[in-house]
Amino acid sequence: MEGQDLSLPLSQGSFQELWQNVYVTGFDDLFELPQEMPSIDRVTPLSSTVPVTTDYAGDYGFQLRFQQSGTAKSVTSTYSELLNKLYCQLAKTTPVEVLVSKEPPAGAILRATAVYKKTEHVAEVVRRCPHHQTEDTAEHRSHLIRVEGNQLAQYFEDPHTKRQSVTVPYEPPQPGSEISTILLSFMCNSSCMGGMNRRPILTILTLETLEGLVLGRRCFEVRICACPGRDRKTEEENSTKMQNGTKETKKRKSTPARVSTSVKKSKLASSAEEDEREVFSLNIRGRDRYEMFKTLNDALELKDKDKSKVKHEHLVPPSGKRLLQRGERSDSD
Ligand SMILES: [Zn+2]
Repeated sequence: MEGQDLSLPLSQGSFQELWQNVYVTGFDDLFELPQEMPSIDRVTPLSSTVPVTTDYAGDYGFQLRFQQSGTAKSVTSTYSELLNKLYCQLAKTTPVEVLVSKEPPAGAILRATAVYKKTEHVAEVVRRCPHHQTEDTAEHRSHLIRVEGNQLAQYFEDPHTKRQSVTVPYEPPQPGSEISTILLSFMCNSSCMGGMNRRPILTILTLETLEGLVLGRRCFEVRICACPGRDRKTEEENSTKMQNGTKETKKRKSTPARVSTSVKKSKLASSAEEDEREVFSLNIRGRDRYEMFKTLNDALELKDKDKSKVKHEHLVPPSGKRLLQRGERSDSD
């Protein structure tokens, strides 16, 4: 199962090592912990079972379809075919159309589960942030994904993995229609502190028998944000730009993700001035990871700038000579 390989080249371990390296160099006051970094104190449970996130049409030709909402500013929910990603606002309803090629067995259900997209977060269970949980009085207040307008929706928490899901009975399409629709809503923003913390999530929709046998599976990424239309447009444009990159870039894309942290590490660890002046370049695969490293580098640059400002304020001539004060004459005059 591909999702269970937790030891990708830039594993959390190596990143945390790098991060701690940066951290001990002592600019915690300058540099706020970026949202995407692995949190140091975990409060949410860790799951040993990683849900499968590969699409599987199965014998019943299970498929999903989203309404075309475009990228207008006012849109509250919009799906990107290009990125297989849903953009929606907090607690706003997203209709998801379910298609099957033949009638599933009686008692079949649809189940929606959220999982973190990135390997370094996948073991953590997706839950709502504490703030939004306490505002809610519903019994299932910790659940991120809700099914709206269905009295038969049931909320589950796996006693072993602690993963949460919501199910509804599969309903065959109304006469004259080929689809059945379920209404999903997401009850936290992707940016919620103490919850998703800007970590991207996937929603897994499975068609299952009453006994829990999976008949079909579809996954899509979800971003819950204030401006779904704008964010979709931006991310689609960025993705198109990336795809139109050089052949070189494409070649690299096909090789496994590998970031050499050693250069960065030695650069960060060393305080020797000549090392500081030497410029390294690093090829980083994946925009998110690039942003992560960029944030890190920007903070370091900022720190350097601050350091040199301090130096200039207490400027001492390198030769040990006293600085000339205003109106004073130099010895050589
Ligand atoms: Zn929240």
